[in-house]
Amino acid sequence: MKDNDHFERVNFETLIETDGYDRIQDRLNIVDVFLGTEEHITIDEMYRLLLEKGYDYEPEFVRQCMNRMADLGFAQKKKFKDQPIRYEHRHLGRHHDHFICTKCGKIVEFADHDMERLQTKVAASHGFHMLQHRMEIYGLCSECLARRKPLMPLGMAKPGERVVIREMTGGKSALARLSSMGLRSGDQIEIINNTGKGRIILGRDHTRLAIGRNIAQKIMVSVADKEGADGGVT
Ligand SMILES: [Zn+2]
Ligand SMILES: [Zn+2]
Ligand SMILES: [Zn+2]
Repeated sequence: MKDNDHFERVNFETLIETDGYDRIQDRLNIVDVFLGTEEHITIDEMYRLLLEKGYDYEPEFVRQCMNRMADLGFAQKKKFKDQPIRYEHRHLGRHHDHFICTKCGKIVEFADHDMERLQTKVAASHGFHMLQHRMEIYGLCSECLARRKPLMPLGMAKPGERVVIREMTGGKSALARLSSMGLRSGDQIEIINNTGKGRIILGRDHTRLAIGRNIAQKIMVSVADKEGADGGVT
């Protein structure tokens, strides 16, 4: 056990003894397991982790103990978008913020001195006295980014496939032609017909569009996700 963890454990023990809690040893076991993980952990995950370590406590007891730790300032509760409540360590005098991958849910911590200072400065310039903040940046983690589907020319997309426009190459005239049809990067389109010759028929929202094969070769697309999300960017 790290020195700091030991100190936190003793500190916690003193506080719950003062409050007259029962099952002190069980609670300390939960504290030890919690301090021993660096994860942003849910109650369910905490319960399973305790089981792995040989502690079979009722989930409600685990929840109650975790909340007590949060109340006493040993843990902090975090609710990231679309995720269950998670608990992480709260080390006094230390602060960090989070990147959250919207694809796999991975949480990455960061601390940036300049960003912290800038937030205080911006708040002050609005006459706002900042007490606390949370900075959450949502996006793709490096693994998910690396797995992102490669680009292909629209001309290669198959009928029935849903794709997202990623880039448009080609000269100004090609770009002007596309924007006159209302096509923009990020648009999701459905391939209605592509015989490999002649024009390609697309559906976008409620409109069908016909695009010449030459221009279709200049539009780079990626395959959209099955759920209809936009091809791996969300
Ligand atoms: Zn921060
Ligand atoms: Zn990810
Ligand atoms: Zn964190």
